[in-house]
Amino acid sequence: MKRREFITKSATAALSVSALSSAQATNPSEGEQQQASHFDAIVIGVGSMGAPACYHLARNGYKVLGIEQFDISHDQGSHAGQSRIIRMAYFEHPDYVPLLQRSYENWKSLEKQTKARVFENCGLAYFGRPDSDFIKGIKKSSELYDVPIARSSPDKAKSLFPAFSVPDDFEVIYEPNAGFITPERAILLYTQLAMESGATIKTRTRVRQWKQEGGKITVQTDGGTYSCNRLIISAGAWASKVIPNFKPKLKVTKQMLAWVSPKNWDDFELGKFPCWILEDPERGSYYGFPILPPERFGGPLGLKLAHHFPGEVSDPDKVNRNVTAGTEDDIRYVLEKYMPSAQASILSLKSCLYTTTTDENFILDYLPGFNKQVVVACGFSGHGFKMSSGIGEVLADMAMKGKTDLPVGFLGLGRAGL
Ligand SMILES: Cc1cc2nc3c(=O)[nH]c(=O)nc-3n(C[C@H](O)[C@H](O)[C@H](O)COP(=O)(O)OP(=O)(O)OC[C@H]3O[C@@H](n4cnc5c(N)ncnc54)[C@H](O)[C@@H]3O)c2cc1C
Repeated sequence: MKRREFITKSATAALSVSALSSAQATNPSEGEQQQASHFDAIVIGVGSMGAPACYHLARNGYKVLGIEQFDISHDQGSHAGQSRIIRMAYFEHPDYVPLLQRSYENWKSLEKQTKARVFENCGLAYFGRPDSDFIKGIKKSSELYDVPIARSSPDKAKSLFPAFSVPDDFEVIYEPNAGFITPERAILLYTQLAMESGATIKTRTRVRQWKQEGGKITVQTDGGTYSCNRLIISAGAWASKVIPNFKPKLKVTKQMLAWVSPKNWDDFELGKFPCWILEDPERGSYYGFPILPPERFGGPLGLKLAHHFPGEVSDPDKVNRNVTAGTEDDIRYVLEKYMPSAQASILSLKSCLYTTTTDENFILDYLPGFNKQVVVACGFSGHGFKMSSGIGEVLADMAMKGKTDLPVGFLGLGRAGL
């Protein structure tokens, strides 16, 4: 119904075009050209959040343009690297759980529509001290939202997870419905579905400027100028280049990911070994995945793990992609201490970008001063991918309906300290 509101003018123009002579029709008039470059919604950045947003907009009949500066997908931003953990006993804050519940539903629906697999339900083991915010937060979200978890002592955990050497003062929690999402495949599938539903996707096109004028938003790219009624900014690590006054709110850091070759690969294979997150009392959080068979997941090869700790502050356009000094030692530290049988050679090291807010919670809101015409999604602080299927829907609803039925107010720009 809302769509009718937005296309009234375009529909009139389309009717008059059909009455033109064929000579006129082959030479598009200024009105037609304007119509072709005007959209109900433009999405800046077709990555983790932008791709599902394009899909939800196009599926609902809106004329949408997604603009991406690189390819779909690519390894210059925040979504590369084969796998992203998904879990629901959310230690960061229980308020994320409703968004997670919708995201789980939307991942299922993506799989059903495409007959492809993006979610691997391999379970997740959490290791940490019982008095840590990490372990307390898992239990809190689980209790509040009935998220199934199983708790075990370090002794019992030794038989359940023989690859881990668990300190006696740790508690171990297992979340059976957790696992990982394949990010590149998910972005490709959402973009393909968006295009099949009529979305226009422009790749290798960078947005240079945008502004509100005469009730619409004009977006200038290095491949032409477009206009729209609603703008969604999902520019990841580039968010503060697209919205310069966001600079103090966001920190972009280069994060290293490692793939190692354990002595015995069988023990760590998908199907036998879970995803894991471990809070080391000295160095903070580390996490990892099972070994993924290359015939189903491509590369890199081996057992993936990483340190969830802010890396080198970087400009996304000038990232030094060399391996950060100390990375190999850091990986060896966690393996030696907690997974001694996985100690072996490092196979691959890659970098990826975090965009972190001051409180490590996402930003999902209307940009102040634009009458709800501009929606912004950024600052995913190293934990956003699992929710991208839900966030895409939230963004489309906020942009076109002026509201969302999901309780995402806690991610608003008005919160203290942002
Ligand atoms: C190492 C690492 C590990 C992670 N692990 C997990 C995990 O296990 N679980 C989890 O849930 N999350 C995880 N995350 C976080 C998650 O991947 C990110 O939160 C998420 O990918 C951010 O999505 P985004 O859409 O903001 O960014 P992106 O996916 O990078 O998309 C932004 C897009 O905007 C484009 N763009 C920017 N500016 C412009 C412009 N001016 N014109 C055109 N296009 C533009 C970019 O090219 C890019 O494609 C991890 C992140 C990293 C880096």
